[in-house]
Amino acid sequence: MTTRREFLLQTTAAGVVAAASLRIAHAARAGTGEDSGNKDGSQAAPAGVVQTVLGPLDASKLGFTLPHEHVAEGAYYLNKWPKTWGGRAEFVAKAVAKLKVIKAAGISTIVDLTPYDVWRDIRFLGEVSRKSGIHMIACTGQRFLPPITHVPMPARTISGLTEFFIKEIRQGIDGTSVKAGVIKIGIVAKKPTRLEEIGLRATVRASKATGVPIRVHTDAANRAGESIAVILENEGMNPARVSFDHSDDSGDMDYFLGLVRRGYSLGMDHVHRGFMPKLNPSFERRVKCIKLLIDAGFADKIFLSQDSEFGGSLIPENAKEWRDTIDPSEGMLFVTRKLIPRLTRLGVTDQQIRTITVANPKRFFGRS
Ligand SMILES: [Zn+2]
Repeated sequence: MTTRREFLLQTTAAGVVAAASLRIAHAARAGTGEDSGNKDGSQAAPAGVVQTVLGPLDASKLGFTLPHEHVAEGAYYLNKWPKTWGGRAEFVAKAVAKLKVIKAAGISTIVDLTPYDVWRDIRFLGEVSRKSGIHMIACTGQRFLPPITHVPMPARTISGLTEFFIKEIRQGIDGTSVKAGVIKIGIVAKKPTRLEEIGLRATVRASKATGVPIRVHTDAANRAGESIAVILENEGMNPARVSFDHSDDSGDMDYFLGLVRRGYSLGMDHVHRGFMPKLNPSFERRVKCIKLLIDAGFADKIFLSQDSEFGGSLIPENAKEWRDTIDPSEGMLFVTRKLIPRLTRLGVTDQQIRTITVANPKRFFGRS
């Protein structure tokens, strides 16, 4: 099956959409640490504050948070089907209308894990955040590394990549003042390739230098978190600041318990894929594992999301077929409409749901 991500990679964009000028509103800087600067002259928010695309925000204001989604590639879809929306302004309007529905469903914050190599448009992300009222956290990092893809990397050394990630966290992304609030790194298979290991070590060093957390794309079905943890710990990383995403692709409680007992968090963000006949584990197994982890006392190590490509939900009906191969038909409302009600029926309490969807993001995304 061609995944959306593969589709994106196989398709050459005709050009970068001209970025509409927009003002990025900044939260008041007083008392946020923005003005104080670090001894190296750069800027970082203090502990407990999260960097959103509109400025620093106290993490207690994040509210219900989806910690692994994709919105910033939205403009890619405008580029691919330019006539469908009539132009960027109409595309943005449609995106904002849809995001307002998501906000009305109680979702307060979306963490966008789209780094530079997979069509991130940081201006689009800022604009739709401002117009929809949803807090957005942008990421730095890298999803695919050569030889898996042939993107012109900013550097191929640990120190060079560390410097690039820190720049996007402290100074801004793509010539804007919008800063990253999380680092995402993609490890495609069971063990990191040579360049993926370089990327992973750079991710740790940038996280330790800035206090922002790490989310790792993992091949959970092959227990990838275990080999990744060895490298993270070799770099002296605190597991409490790391989430292994797509973990529910495993379905193996032994794998899960081994990682949470070491202090790592698990992103359960592919649960909808359990409905697809050819994809294991089943929806029921994925849900059961979440319940078993909660019962074992690890609600504070779980995240719920749906790894959705928001831009894909806006595309024309005649391209619907491939869109539906990966994303749930509920889009970014799958967690609230399907997953949480199912967990509730299994006996998960409202307090436990609140721990997972509000308290965990507050603790995780606030700077350490
Ligand atoms: Zn993703």
